[in-house]
Amino acid sequence: MSDEKTLFERIIDREVPADIVYETDTTLVFRDINPQAATHVLVVPKTRYRDVAELAAADPGLLAEVVGSAATVAEREGLGDGYRVVFNTGADAGQTVFHVHAHVLGGEQLGHFGRYHR
Ligand code: 5GP
Repeated sequence: MSDEKTLFERIIDREVPADIVYETDTTLVFRDINPQAATHVLVVPKTRYRDVAELAAADPGLLAEVVGSAATVAEREGLGDGYRVVFNTGADAGQTVFHVHAHVLGGEQLGHFGRYHR
């Protein structure tokens, strides 16, 4: 893996500003710069893994902490009526930052998801 920091490592290290809403020893949660729902935050583990499969294989406890931070923020943000947790994995899914992150989307009725509609 490249030694160059990912964008999300630069946010974790406070080199790039972000609207941080929650932090634990192992995770950071901040608002997505291009929100796709009324509430759209990203949960990132402070240790870099390329995607959720790599994270699950290497450190399932850390994956559970990512999901736990997602649930905590969902509660804090008032998403009691439901929310969606998405891990885009690979190019076909539109993953653009190769430092695993959970999208947490909610705050309104969400649309269907799946195939790209041209
Ligand atoms: P992906 O496409 O890899 O699943 O998700 C990457 C997400 O990072 C996108 O939703 C994009 O809007 C978000 N993003 C890209 N650059 C920045 C940034 O500089 N700051 C923040 N807060 N989010 C970003």
